[in-house]
Amino acid sequence: MVRFYVLLGPPGAGKGTQAAIIAEKCGIPHISSGNIFRENLEKNTELGKQARVFMERGELVPDDITIRMVEDRLLKSDCANGALLDGFPRTPAQAEALAVFLADHQGEIFCVPFINVDSNELIDRLSGRWTCKAEGHVYHSKYNPPKNEGVCDLDGSPLYQRNDDKRETVQQRIEVYFKQTAPLIDFYKEKGLLVEIDGAKPIDEVTQAVLKVVACEAE
Ligand code: ADP
Ligand code: AMP
Repeated sequence: MVRFYVLLGPPGAGKGTQAAIIAEKCGIPHISSGNIFRENLEKNTELGKQARVFMERGELVPDDITIRMVEDRLLKSDCANGALLDGFPRTPAQAEALAVFLADHQGEIFCVPFINVDSNELIDRLSGRWTCKAEGHVYHSKYNPPKNEGVCDLDGSPLYQRNDDKRETVQQRIEVYFKQTAPLIDFYKEKGLLVEIDGAKPIDEVTQAVLKVVACEAE
């Protein structure tokens, strides 16, 4: 069985930050549904046009569009040895679809690290977030600043503040998380897959905790 990992947690918990580090260490792709949507927005594709209005409002893109997009990505050859999912699934329907897809493709969810952070902290995290234009690498003005202001350490591309990191949209995204995504905590707990991780700790401590759970052969 090929192992897939799902990172769960509220917006701003540190999923993208951790996924980039863990995926690299484990030698598997980091699949962020949010990054794929943003690439499509940038290129103004048909998918980008469909997703834009929902993303700008801080709402979820409808399940059918999102599921199709992620399944297409999982069918690419680089996922043959597994992948780390960040931001998907985000609804019970997406979780059900993923289970069916993996069962049909000799895959399984090995574990679901749930990175948990208090709501008050999330607003501070998201309002200081800077994202790299080229690859979506993530920084924070206070907690994880780049070496040179406004420039990605890893690929030199410019950093920008996401439109949906505005305070009003952040509030909406946190509410959407509690209504639509938080039910997945029990969904995966019942399957014995959920492992809660304290996401309030410094980035490297969270990485160590996630690595322990993921138990990949770190490269
Ligand atoms: P998510 O993908 O869950 O929305 P991100 O990984 O983008 O979250 O992190 C949100 C913001 O918080 C970023 O600016 C990031 O640099 C910062 N951050 C991530 N993990 C931590 C941490 N453990 N402590 C402090 N800041 C963090
Ligand atoms: P993220 O980069 O994970 O914070 O996602 C940014 C935005 O993309 C979300 O607020 C949603 O509008 C959209 N999005 C990302 N992943 C999903 C998903 N699994 N289901 C629905 N919408 C998503």
